[in-house]
Amino acid sequence: MTNTGHTEAKGVRLEGVSRSFGQLKAVDNVSVDIPAGSFFSLLGPSGCGKSTTLRIISGFESPDQGRVYIGEEDVTDVQARRRPTAMVFQNYALFPHMTVGQNVAYGLKVRKLSASDVKSRVQDALRRVDMEAFEGTPVTSLSGGQQQRTALARAVAIEPEVILFDEPLSNLDVALRHQTRAELKALQHRLGLTSIYVTHDQEEAMALSDQIAVMRAGRIVQTGSPKELYQQPDSAFVASFLGGSNVLDDAQLIQRLTGAMPAGGYVVSVRPEHIEVDAEGGVEAEVVAHQYLGMQTSLTLEVDGYRLEARIPGDQEIPTATRIGVTSSRNVLDDR
Ligand code: ATP
Repeated sequence: MTNTGHTEAKGVRLEGVSRSFGQLKAVDNVSVDIPAGSFFSLLGPSGCGKSTTLRIISGFESPDQGRVYIGEEDVTDVQARRRPTAMVFQNYALFPHMTVGQNVAYGLKVRKLSASDVKSRVQDALRRVDMEAFEGTPVTSLSGGQQQRTALARAVAIEPEVILFDEPLSNLDVALRHQTRAELKALQHRLGLTSIYVTHDQEEAMALSDQIAVMRAGRIVQTGSPKELYQQPDSAFVASFLGGSNVLDDAQLIQRLTGAMPAGGYVVSVRPEHIEVDAEGGVEAEVVAHQYLGMQTSLTLEVDGYRLEARIPGDQEIPTATRIGVTSSRNVLDDR
């Protein structure tokens, strides 16, 4: 690692990476190619193997099988501190007895940079995240958002080629999360670093990412841009994970609702916004609950003992207990 100027982003490639803990295959034969300079998210429910995959890239965890490449270099057997990666953790992992500046300087001192290089890099990193005024402040007196930015400055200061984020916004409240998300995106764009981001929050992944890999039970089930995944999910799992969906397995109901006749054993996924309410000749449904969300209202419908979610424009009102006809002609897909 140089101590002078800019680093060049490098891509990351995993080839057939697996990692078990006892009987559990936490990561199961994962292969993925993450382009240099891109913002790439690993998205999936709790326990699907996202963090373990990220830790394997950072070198904090070793794979049982498979290889890890950063740029052209096979780093599988390279120690974590010798890899060109920096990690930003969920709890920030800041040293509580140190100031902001000391926290940012820490990794640079470990790398044995000269005092003047440490000083200039700390100032530069703090400037990039708009925290230069806080250099002498103890981290314990910072807000959550400021701690988050300090953690980011600490990662940026070591001039990594790849920056790894493990749910870095989950400790922030909703408003700050949105703001920090926008800052993070802008910063990533400015620095042009390859960013790999772990989250279970689909909205966050969609807002930030160039590409998303959706994980389930240790495997990557689909990779694509947010739009591709949203518009062309290739399984009901991906559809329901991105944007929410009604997943139906009752062939009769599917046929009455959508007009499609699924082959046996398949499930069908229908997005809430693709259910048309008040449709003539549709299936009869009862509105059992509604939640006003501003732009939209979410209706919970009961049809033949099943619950479905539909979305209608926020200015439209359909009271609870109303019986309506519902159909859906769009975005029905078989789970493969
Ligand atoms: P979360 O969002 O909850 O952190 P995740 O998708 O990041 O989930 P991992 O943390 O990678 O999932 O964990 C995958 C599975 O491996 C989980 O079942 C977890 O309990 C297990 N696991 C992870 N690390 C270890 C470990 N060091 N020892 C034993 N089991 C582990």
